[in-house]
Amino acid sequence: MKGQPHTLAIGVTGGIGSGKTEVCRIFRSLGAKVLYADAIAKELIDSTSMIKTKIQEVFGQEIFKPDGKLDRHKMAMVVFNNKAMKEQLNGIVHPHVVRFLRQKINQSKQSRSHAIVVVEAALIYEAHAETLFDYIVVVDASEEQRIDRILKRGRTSRADVIGRIKAQMSAEEKLKKADFIINNSGTLRSLKVTCKFLYQLLLRLTNTRVNSQRH
Ligand code: ATP
Repeated sequence: MKGQPHTLAIGVTGGIGSGKTEVCRIFRSLGAKVLYADAIAKELIDSTSMIKTKIQEVFGQEIFKPDGKLDRHKMAMVVFNNKAMKEQLNGIVHPHVVRFLRQKINQSKQSRSHAIVVVEAALIYEAHAETLFDYIVVVDASEEQRIDRILKRGRTSRADVIGRIKAQMSAEEKLKKADFIINNSGTLRSLKVTCKFLYQLLLRLTNTRVNSQRH
């Protein structure tokens, strides 16, 4: 006899400009609950005094705006091209984000409100957050395509994009670790077709008892 369907937690990651947000938007339109790690990190930084105190200790009070919120522009300037500083910031923030996501995922699994909970998170592997998920999807496109798409989106320069790509874990390394790979080198229309296919497959997996080897 088949068990009751359970909720699957899916991590969506990939290099900058690979199409993570588009993939999550499509999954959402298909019925998934979607959480965004970046937005959660921002909210937690501004609302958690323990995080603020630690950031202040490392980066000084001047990294905050007069209204007490983090000056993201200043922080981006400080951590850009400074690996040690970036690691310090991530070391402060990531554990809180992971804990928050774990709670949200557990709540969704208990309530079974959605068959699939998706988390968009650029740094799943870097933050060693793999165990949060039943499966991890890596979105991939060529470096040239990623750069072109981000430049088209505006707000940034080519040198800035290349700098950020260089600072990340390589696409190859992420692809090696992936449970599923979405190749986003075609049109948005073909991305939709791929996402629909994967979503149907994941829905099937909610009916199985097999969870990933990670646990
Ligand atoms: P970031 O790392 O900056 O958060 P991301 O991985 O979330 O980026 P998206 O924001 O989804 O990537 O995509 C980057 C840009 O490329 C967006 O403007 C998006 O609409 C566009 N884009 C994504 N996939 C495609 C595609 N297959 N064809 C054309 N444009 C695309």
